[in-house]
Amino acid sequence: MTAQEAKGLLVTFEGVDGSGKSTQAALFVERLAQAGVPLLALRDPGANAISERIRAILLDRSLAEMSPWSELLLYEAARAQMTGQQIIPALAEGRMVVCDRYYDSTTAYQGYGRQLELDLVHQANRIGSCGLVPDVTFLIDVELEVVRRRLSARDSDADRMEAAGLDFHDRVRRGYLELAAAAPERVYVIPGNRPIESIQRHIWQLFINRFQRHLNRPGEENA
Ligand code: ADP
Repeated sequence: MTAQEAKGLLVTFEGVDGSGKSTQAALFVERLAQAGVPLLALRDPGANAISERIRAILLDRSLAEMSPWSELLLYEAARAQMTGQQIIPALAEGRMVVCDRYYDSTTAYQGYGRQLELDLVHQANRIGSCGLVPDVTFLIDVELEVVRRRLSARDSDADRMEAAGLDFHDRVRRGYLELAAAAPERVYVIPGNRPIESIQRHIWQLFINRFQRHLNRPGEENA
């Protein structure tokens, strides 16, 4: 099943660490909840017992010897579990699924950041997502200097990915912009160096313009 064949909608938020995507995903979820939309909010990797354990391995800075291929496959394993256990059933029930990161993160981080062969990353992504494609993706784009400032303010939280350095993040950011340019009908690039509320309004407006009917009669249509 693809997200397009399901009754619900799959909405994903993407961006480099510190771009503000989690902030925006949470505000978006709040708004949907206020509108009475049946929904499921998830973070990838994570959101269930198995995927959270895999997440803990991925973010453990004492495991610095992890190979990029092992890292790729662990992300896909966590994603496959979440997709099968949570996303597909929720979409089948007509719920809106909002995901903080999904496979575009793997394309950007493992493909562009770690420079793994893109073709193989795309194939791995298809396995991890069980063939699902998000209905819409909001990519929060912020210059690295702004990100660096934001992240240094929460230095104690810096995980292994955040410790990877500016060159790495520059490749990740460019990767995100490239994948967005390749799928403009799905991925909206949202300038993220603005006040939180103004970004939120921008995202909501784009969403409403395209998916208003899903708010009016949630679960009844997605033909
Ligand atoms: P991400 O999920 O992309 O890592 P977060 O949403 O966790 O980013 O935000 C990272 C930090 O930046 C947090 O401290 C958050 O409060 C702050 N932040 C988020 N959005 C903005 C914004 N538009 N302007 C300034 N600071 C922001």
